[in-house]
Amino acid sequence: MTRDPRFAERFVQAIRSVCGEETRTYGLHEPSFEGNEWVYVKECLDTGWVSSAGKFVDRFESELADYTGAKRTIAVVNGTAALHVCLQLAGVEPGDEVIIPSLTFVATANAVTYCGGIPHFADCEERTLGMDPEKLRAYLRETVETRDRRCRNRRTGRFISAVVPMHTFGHPVDLDPLAEVCREFGIALVEDAAEALGSLYKGRHVGNHGVLSALSFNGNKIITTGGGGAILTNDASLADRAKHLTTTAKLPHRWEFFHDSVGYNYRMPNINAALGCAQLEQLDGFLAKKRAIADRYRAAFETFPGVQWFPEPPFARSNYWLNVIRLDESFAHLRDSFLAITNDEKIMTRPTWIPMHRLPMYGVCPKMDLSVTDDMVQRIINLPSSSNLSSSL
Ligand SMILES: *Cc1c(COP(=O)(O)O)cnc(C)c1O
Repeated sequence: MTRDPRFAERFVQAIRSVCGEETRTYGLHEPSFEGNEWVYVKECLDTGWVSSAGKFVDRFESELADYTGAKRTIAVVNGTAALHVCLQLAGVEPGDEVIIPSLTFVATANAVTYCGGIPHFADCEERTLGMDPEKLRAYLRETVETRDRRCRNRRTGRFISAVVPMHTFGHPVDLDPLAEVCREFGIALVEDAAEALGSLYKGRHVGNHGVLSALSFNGNKIITTGGGGAILTNDASLADRAKHLTTTAKLPHRWEFFHDSVGYNYRMPNINAALGCAQLEQLDGFLAKKRAIADRYRAAFETFPGVQWFPEPPFARSNYWLNVIRLDESFAHLRDSFLAITNDEKIMTRPTWIPMHRLPMYGVCPKMDLSVTDDMVQRIINLPSSSNLSSSL
C-alpha cells in the first residue's frame, strides 16, 4: 500500500475534497473579516481613540465575559502576556516549578520563565492531546511532598505552584480530574485556553475551571484582534489585580502618576478591541463553519488507510480550531513526504510544535516520562482549517 505511487496523490485529493480546487494558497488558519470590522476600526480613526483608552476595550471585555461565562475578562496585548500575568497572580514566584505540557506552543513555557519559574513538563494523553490527569496524579504521588498545604518537588526541593493544561488545537483537556489533582496537591490550576475560544468542556466554556486562564486573539486564532489576548477569571479581586498590573499599576488620579508596584504595559489598544468586537459578533458563525469543515475532513479520511482524523473528546464540544490527522505508527515514516507534497501544492500542512523538552533553553528542565508526547509529535499533521476555507461552505 505505502509503495503505491498514487498514495501521496490520494492524500492531496482527500484534502482538496475539503479545501477546493482553486490554485490559491490554503493557509493553516487565515482570518476572515466579513462583519463590522471596517465600521468599528473607522470609528477609532475618526474619533482619535486608537490607543490606551476608548469604549471598545470595555465593550470587548464585557462581551467576552458574556460569551465565555467568566465573571471578568481583562483584554491584553497578546496571549503570552495574558499567561504571564495569570501565572504571576496565581502565585508563581521566582524559583518555583510550574507543570505544563511539553506538547504546546513555546509561549506556555516562556510565560513561566518570565515569572522566574521553571517549567516542569507533563505528558499528554492520546484522547485529548492535552495533559494526562491520571499520569500526572501518579507522577506527583511519587515525586512531591505536601507541607503546610504547599507542594514541594522532593527531587529538586522547589515548590510547584501551578499546573497549566493547554487545550490543544481547541480540543478541551479533561479538566475535572485535573482540577481534582490540583486540589489534592494544593497547586493552582491555570488554563492556557489560547486556542480554545468557543470550546466547551461538559457544556461549560473552557477557561472557567481554574483560578485564571488565558486566551489569544493572534491572527491565526479563531477570532483575531490583530494581536491580542485576554485573562479570564471568576474571582473579582484577582480580576482587579489583573487589570491593575496590566495597566502599569497606576493608581487612578486626575494628574498624578503614582504606580504602586512593577506593572506591565499590557493593555489592549482600543483599535484592536474594535476589531475584536466585530470578530466576536461572527464567532458563532465561524464555529458553525468550522464544524462543517471538521465533518468534511472526517468523511474524507474515514476510509483512508493509515490515517485517523482526530475527533473532539467525548466530554467536549470543540471549536475545531485546527484539524488534526494522526498517522498510524506504521505510516509515521510518511509524515514528511505528506508535508512536502501538500506544501508543494500550496496547501499548508504542518507538523505539531517541537516539544518543549527538546528546545535548547528547556532541555534541562524537570520532566516526567514523555513517551506519548514523543510518539504523537512524530505522527500528527495539522490541516488547513480557516473558516473561509471553501467557497462551498
Ligand atoms: C497562540 C498561543 C498562545 C499565545 O500566543 P500569542 O501569540 O502571544 O497571542 C499561548 N499558548 C498557546 C498554546 C497558543 O497556541
